[in-house]
Amino acid sequence: MTLSFQLALSTVREKLSAAGAAAAVEVVSLDGVRGRVLATDVVADRDYPPFHRSTRDGYAVRAADLAALPATLECVGEVRAGEHFGDKVAPGQCVSIMTGAPLPAGADAVLMLEYTRRDGNHLQASRSVEPFENVVRRASEASAGDRVLPRGRRLGPSEMGLLATVGRAQVEIFREPRVAIIPTGDEIVPLDLPPEWFQIRNSNAVTLCAQVAAAGGIPWRLGIAPDRAEPLRKLIEEGLSADLLLLSGGVSMGKYDLVEQVLADLGAEFFFRGVAIRPGKPLVFGRVRERFIFGLPGNPVSTFVTFELFVRPAIALLGGAEFEPPVFLRARLGKPFHQRLGLTAFMPARVDVQNGEPRVNLVGYQGSGDLVGVAAANCFLVVHPEQTDFAAGDWVDVLPKPS
Ligand code: AMP
Ligand code: MG
Repeated sequence: MTLSFQLALSTVREKLSAAGAAAAVEVVSLDGVRGRVLATDVVADRDYPPFHRSTRDGYAVRAADLAALPATLECVGEVRAGEHFGDKVAPGQCVSIMTGAPLPAGADAVLMLEYTRRDGNHLQASRSVEPFENVVRRASEASAGDRVLPRGRRLGPSEMGLLATVGRAQVEIFREPRVAIIPTGDEIVPLDLPPEWFQIRNSNAVTLCAQVAAAGGIPWRLGIAPDRAEPLRKLIEEGLSADLLLLSGGVSMGKYDLVEQVLADLGAEFFFRGVAIRPGKPLVFGRVRERFIFGLPGNPVSTFVTFELFVRPAIALLGGAEFEPPVFLRARLGKPFHQRLGLTAFMPARVDVQNGEPRVNLVGYQGSGDLVGVAAANCFLVVHPEQTDFAAGDWVDVLPKPS
């Protein structure tokens, strides 16, 4: 049951795409919605722009008046942003207009200040204009009643600005899913204890809590489960009261890797038990008692990467958001290398801009336990299964490292 990266990702999408519908809704004031997910479609309350809006400082004119140049017009008034011109602009006339002001009736374009010379009420135009030049037409962005944001859209600063534009001071959003986190391993100790030389501090819980919060979930950190079935089962049962359960460690082939066995004893259905990726190959995804669960490999880089690839989109779907798959960008490879893996690899790397182009190079890395190496990286270079030889200058995929 080892799936390719793409197949595993589409399995997560398929299994969870209906889950968001069950998410509860709350109403929150607009200032508090950054990063949250919209629970209803939002429609325009009026036309946008609500009037033909000038995009320049200049003169509102009738384009036909400037067909033959030079042309002289009579200036009959001024309109500023926040005002409107009461009369109609007649043939041969113009009105001084500021950026953001409504185009007066009768005018159909704006001539930029730069192409004019004013002498009292007379305006000399040195250029012609197309109809609606320097004007954004009424309703060209949206008509009253048009959908401007769909249900499921994650709200960032620009979406919040749009909500403000259409007058939504209160916003219906989905409640964030609660995500339980259980680290496992007899060698794992809490941060507040000095570790024996053979023990390892529980870093994964810290990484995962931060990732869950960044993904739009509410992290719920449970105790460290030892590599014994009974206490592990108890913690898992407790964690199943959350919307999603994450376990770290204990999913490899070792004698004391008990997570899958304990989940199976609890009646788990597994959708996959292994993905052809590195790091993170032993990743497990399934469902127990109506709750989705991920068993993340315990190596800290594996935990981090498998979360970004699969758990982040899962939390988004659980929270009612649209599917938000990891997006690969492209950069040119600096130093060549050779790779023969037959799986999708994510290698810590650094991208920067050289001669106006993104250039990427691998960083020194000791494998999936090496958070020191990953700290020096700002992205992962993505090696696809069919790729083996990488020459300097090749365009390659990179996955930005989340901040
Ligand atoms: P496992 O997946 O349980 O075989 O663990 C793989 C490696 O990851 C081992 O070297 C563990 O010590 C390490 N590891 C497991 N869980 C954690 C954790 N919570 N924090 C830091 N390292 C961990
Ligand atoms: Mg372990």
